Amino acid sequence: MNILLTGGAGYIGSHTALALMARGHQLVLVDNFSNSQPEVLKRLSNLSQGMPGSFDFHQLDICDAKALAAVFAAKAAAGQHFDAVIHFAGLKAVGESAREPLKYYQHNVAGTVTLLNVMQQYQVNCLVFSSSATVYGDPQSLPLTEQSPTGPQSVYGRSKFMVEHILADYCAANAAFSAVVLRYFNPVGAHPSGQLGEDPQGIPNNLLPFISQVAVGRREALTVFGNDYPTPDGTGVRDYIHVLDLADGHVRALEQLCNQAGQHLFNLGTGQGYSVLEMVEAFRQVSGHPIPLHFAPRRPGDVSACYADAGKARQQLGWQAQLNLTDMVSDTWRWQQQNPQGYRTANQAVGTAVEENADV
Ligand code: NAD
Ligand code: UDP
Repeated sequence: MNILLTGGAGYIGSHTALALMARGHQLVLVDNFSNSQPEVLKRLSNLSQGMPGSFDFHQLDICDAKALAAVFAAKAAAGQHFDAVIHFAGLKAVGESAREPLKYYQHNVAGTVTLLNVMQQYQVNCLVFSSSATVYGDPQSLPLTEQSPTGPQSVYGRSKFMVEHILADYCAANAAFSAVVLRYFNPVGAHPSGQLGEDPQGIPNNLLPFISQVAVGRREALTVFGNDYPTPDGTGVRDYIHVLDLADGHVRALEQLCNQAGQHLFNLGTGQGYSVLEMVEAFRQVSGHPIPLHFAPRRPGDVSACYADAGKARQQLGWQAQLNLTDMVSDTWRWQQQNPQGYRTANQAVGTAVEENADV
């Protein structure tokens, strides 16, 4: 298939690109590098050597309709068309979304509408969308099925939820359109080569990148947000899923559902929850490094526990997470050790450190 990946240089996009090339798909990646580095493209080229698929890249912002349309036009000029779009591009920092809601609605919601308009113009009728378990808000019961009540608690979560509604409305109006909504739980891990991984800019918001930066000596100690939750050890419980399993979920969804019109909605999680302290202990064991930590009050907006019922994806897509906690942690640790400053060179990283200090 010919597939366009928006946000293809990002964490989940890059791993999915590799999985798709391994299956022989021809890709065009677009990204504005607002939260990624051009270095990822070199790594993707190296890792995809010998694979049946290949990729091109265009640096652009999905809110720029002309630039986006030019990519579709170039495909048409070559006598081809995109069979599908996987839409990863978006902003994802919950805290920032509260401070800058318009930026989030612009990139996540208006950007998606711009993309859908261009797809309509070029009659591309399949979109796979990166949604999030955050649309469920504070769960009334666990595990979360696709039918569980929704109620996103943040601007970021609402931006994802709005797009889900937009896709449902567009499917209702365009009988040929297939929208596959994938609600990710907590993606973690890295490519086992150590060449691709998550590279947060500045201070990581997410647990595993923070723990790994403590283990490698980049940060002094982990702050555990809350130890008074109604969970076995009092710390928050989440459904961590290896990014390779997530990538495989995209491949399955795309290959099976792109010709089936309508909206298709799936949780992508393992169904297994781990607490913050269990994650810390797993990382300590795999890395052999101590992970100093201190407890702090709960982080506003955090829920006590969140994990998936992954049955629908298993039954309908034949997809099930294959990798366990040790795989997630050891691949994260390999990536962190081989790339202590992420994709940036040491010089660029000095710049980042100065910015971080300025923020504090
Ligand atoms: P990421 O930031 O690594 O990747 C997103 C990519 O999109 C980045 O490379 C960024 O530069 C690019 N981008 C952002 N806005 C853009 C724009 N306007 N035009 C072009 N490119 C743009 O994030 P990720 O973790 O790979 O997440 C991918 C998607 O999955 C996002 O939509 C995110 O909201 C969603 N998601 C992520 C998680 C998670 O924990 N990582 C969980 C649930 C959902
Ligand atoms: N967490 C923490 N310290 C951190 C980052 C996260 O204690 O520095 C906790 C957080 O409160 C939650 C869990 O780790 O219970 C997962 O948080 P993350 O931000 O990775 O995912 P999300 O909250 O989006 O599910």
